[in-house]
Amino acid sequence: MELVPLFSGSSGNSTLIRTDNANILIDAGRNCKWLTDALCRVGTDPSDIDAIFVTHSHNDHVSALDVFIRKYPTRLYATYDTFRAIQRYFKKPHELTPDIVIKPREETEVVPGLKVTAVSTPHDAAGSVCYKVKSDRKQCMVMTDVGYITDEIMGFARGVDAILVESNYDRRMLVYGDYPEDLKVRIAGDGGHMSNDDCARMVKYLIDNGTRKIILGHLSENNNTPDKAQKTVCDYLKSFELKSGSDYELRVANRYEPTKGYIF
Ligand SMILES: [Zn+2]
Ligand SMILES: [Zn+2]
Repeated sequence: MELVPLFSGSSGNSTLIRTDNANILIDAGRNCKWLTDALCRVGTDPSDIDAIFVTHSHNDHVSALDVFIRKYPTRLYATYDTFRAIQRYFKKPHELTPDIVIKPREETEVVPGLKVTAVSTPHDAAGSVCYKVKSDRKQCMVMTDVGYITDEIMGFARGVDAILVESNYDRRMLVYGDYPEDLKVRIAGDGGHMSNDDCARMVKYLIDNGTRKIILGHLSENNNTPDKAQKTVCDYLKSFELKSGSDYELRVANRYEPTKGYIF
């Protein structure tokens, strides 16, 4: 299995998960051209996508969908509330790409032996979820747009081999930055995003439970930098004597272009 972020950040998100016999996209942000270029760059033909799983209805996760699924019909999976909310992005019906409604905790078999499961996430979009992809022996997860980490999410994520996990904002940059107060409250609130500190604690828990391959993603353009995100997480892990390289591998997903993925 391979986990490959195509682009990641508040400006647009899409992640490719590929195995020997399937290609799955988690989210389709930015635009169709950007998404197809990214897929071609990592050597996957856009017409070979077997399924797209949508986490929630925010623009940075769905803005490429309408054009992409018309050009490259595939199967589209989301919760009922997400489908309702994303109808406004579809200019006309997309008959060739069926809407397949999923429910949190229900397993969906995309191709024989490859299963995807969702877990509900606290975030300010109805029906918001994040996904875990599982084959016979391996599993990975994309965990972004999480206002706070619930016990259910922790149990769900426990034991994944690789994860793209949100490290959205640096607390100081958010507090002292020039965003309007109500937006700051939204981002840091229960329906917002994970800070670098939240991410560090989650990553520690994951490593304690066997995860070795970490990608930090969905960084804010204005309230974070890749260096700050990486340093916050690695410093925290260091305080528990966990060492990069021997105890875990960690990289930060690029905002606009594919990031070297993990094969596991
Ligand atoms: Zn987002
Ligand atoms: Zn969101």
